[in-house]
Amino acid sequence: MSKLINAVLTDLRSDTMTKPTADMLKAMLQAKVGDDCYGEDETVTALEQHCANVFQKEAALFMPTGTMSNQVAMLTLVSAGDEIITETGYHIAYFESAQTSYLSHAVLNDLKTDDGILNIDNIKLTLQNKARWSKNYSQAKLVVIENSINCYGGKIFPLTSLKLLYQFCKENELMLYLDGARLLNACIASNTVPASYAKNVDALSICFAKGLGAPFGAMLMGSKDFISKAQKYRKWLGGGLHQAGVMAAACQYALENHMENLVLDHHKAKNLWKNLRHIKELKFMPVETNIVMFDVRNLNVTANQFVALAKAENLLLIAWSNYVVRAVTHRDVTKNAIQIASDQIINIVNKLLKKSMAVSSLT
Ligand SMILES: *Cc1c(COP(=O)(O)O)cnc(C)c1O
Repeated sequence: MSKLINAVLTDLRSDTMTKPTADMLKAMLQAKVGDDCYGEDETVTALEQHCANVFQKEAALFMPTGTMSNQVAMLTLVSAGDEIITETGYHIAYFESAQTSYLSHAVLNDLKTDDGILNIDNIKLTLQNKARWSKNYSQAKLVVIENSINCYGGKIFPLTSLKLLYQFCKENELMLYLDGARLLNACIASNTVPASYAKNVDALSICFAKGLGAPFGAMLMGSKDFISKAQKYRKWLGGGLHQAGVMAAACQYALENHMENLVLDHHKAKNLWKNLRHIKELKFMPVETNIVMFDVRNLNVTANQFVALAKAENLLLIAWSNYVVRAVTHRDVTKNAIQIASDQIINIVNKLLKKSMAVSSLT
């Protein structure tokens, strides 16, 4: 069999690897700009209004990154010592615990769930446990969820679950914030309009620099009051930008031209999984959007070792945890590259299986 070394690098580490296209750069060049700190950048203002309309929220605020959106949202919604209920695997807990403690001085109560869907029963239990004690201890004020859920293989947070959760939050005086870095992936895959998700949370953010392919940008959305407070914290963190219209133009371009690509990204992820699902040693999480996650422990390797073998063939993947490998499809990998990547992974698996057979015949 021929050696399947890919001359071109296939980068499936993340959908943040997407690069601006020539047409996107042209839109950036042509952007009408002003100083956004004076509210005078019409391209930024137009993008904020566009997003507020699409998501049917009162107001929107352009942000440099998804992380800053999350951090500003928490600064706005909680005070020092308040508790934020979330899930262990969500970005807020997994990647932003340090930032949250540093900036909001809030306490993350990150619950472990079996399926990644933070549900009412989980939250009820933690509230009941707390309610037994004096109000002088930390009190939960905010619930944070994620959609699609990265660490559960791009799983969609179902709208029905979200509706129940939002109702519960309102009854219990909890605010609900949605980290929607990949919310548009979830919308497209579940055939749901963005406003349906947005209607069932108090505030949310989306990211333009993931599958949408902009080099920069996120949008924070919520009530007028929330956004006006958030504006202050954005400024405090140094996120008050001046001629940000150059960047907003890229994001506007991405919204108008790259949405269909998300559909293709989901097909590519499904294809990758279909090409590999016959390998019984690989344990896949269900593929719902553009993320493919598989456990490699039955091949007697760690995720790091598996990723190193792939890298030797010019295929870049990420070791998500000790044994789980992540591949993310995006607009900068072709359908053909996915076919080659599948063959490369099959090749690696075959080599590993041969090796373990050789080892077991010796023992
Ligand atoms: C990528 C991501 C973020 C952070 O976005 P940045 O723009 O990289 O700061 C936040 N939440 C989730 C779920 C993400 O996937």
